[in-house]
Amino acid sequence: MLKINKGTKLVIKIGSSLLVEKGKIRKSWLDNLVKEVAILQKQGVQVVIVSSGAIALGKSYLKKYLKTDFEVKDLAEKQATAAIGQINLMSEYKNSFDKKNLIVAQILLTAADCSHEKRYLNATNTISTLLQYGFVPIINENDTVAVEEIKIGDNDQLAASVAKMIKADYLILLSDIDGLYDKNPKIHKDAKLITRIAKIDEKIEKMAEGAVSSVGTGGMITKIKAAKIAAATNCQTIITNGAGKKPEILELTKGKKKFSLFGVVVN
Ligand code: ADP
Repeated sequence: MLKINKGTKLVIKIGSSLLVEKGKIRKSWLDNLVKEVAILQKQGVQVVIVSSGAIALGKSYLKKYLKTDFEVKDLAEKQATAAIGQINLMSEYKNSFDKKNLIVAQILLTAADCSHEKRYLNATNTISTLLQYGFVPIINENDTVAVEEIKIGDNDQLAASVAKMIKADYLILLSDIDGLYDKNPKIHKDAKLITRIAKIDEKIEKMAEGAVSSVGTGGMITKIKAAKIAAATNCQTIITNGAGKKPEILELTKGKKKFSLFGVVVN
């Protein structure tokens, strides 16, 4: 169960499939997320959001504007789409957070920002300052300059790097599945949910590898990699299903929700 107190730090990663449906933002889902974040903040919990969705929103915005599909043929066009979509994404977040009188801040990071000492320190200081004041940092990859970053699931690892930066207690990866199963549950009916993973060994990695060969996404592998990064700084990772009408992060604190927990197991 997720144990939160005053001062607990959470990094919540949101995949585009939860936030964007058929090119449109899931407004009521987003409002529900914001409601949950507001409740957590009232309890003294510090929340950082890592959000995908820029490319999906950029594509549909361009389609509406150009009245035809904007063909994304190469990387530069993908980056252009992300640049257009990012501002739409943040505008949706701002509208929802405004309703709860909470201030959001946009932070765009690249891999270099997470490894280069000075840049790492600067990013850490900025995020920590925002949290101190009760503002909500919303982080995404800086797609404009991060060539290697436009990949499915990359934000799992970005979220883990952010968790490391701010010494988060929990990294919550909201997905469309209850957690890590011993095999892909969408293919195997008898797949079992692994609720506790104290150590990420080869056996666990093999289960995640199955995700690539069977469905062709990097989703589970990048989540295991993220859990490893987080575990190195004593941050526990939770994979849970956030795809319903509400993300149900609060349910995790009440023991009412299924999830996989990686890292040091707290009794
Ligand atoms: P994201 O939520 O970041 O978009 P993905 O959709 O890429 O994540 O990955 C989650 C998907 O991975 C699940 O919906 C499921 O179909 C697939 N998958 C494959 N193998 C497993 C496994 N062992 N446990 C859980 N999900 C798995």
